[in-house]
Amino acid sequence: MNESRISCEEVVQRLFDYLHQELDIDASAEIERHLHRCHDCFSRAEFEQKLRDRLTESGQQEAPERLRRRIREMIERF
Ligand SMILES: [Zn+2]
Repeated sequence: MNESRISCEEVVQRLFDYLHQELDIDASAEIERHLHRCHDCFSRAEFEQKLRDRLTESGQQEAPERLRRRIREMIERF
């Protein structure tokens, strides 16, 4: 019941889009469900959210692709 249908790997891959609200409602809901069940992914999401907040606060501007790649690398190492 309420079995999460997406894997941790998929969540990590979609986390960036999820946090940028670039996913449709169904896809977001699926990730949210996974985050509620999976502490690892929840921590990653929290980590990325904080990282983004910090970058926004410091007013750092980077090319989206570079930023995306850097965040992805950080998450994979996390
Ligand atoms: Zn997970």
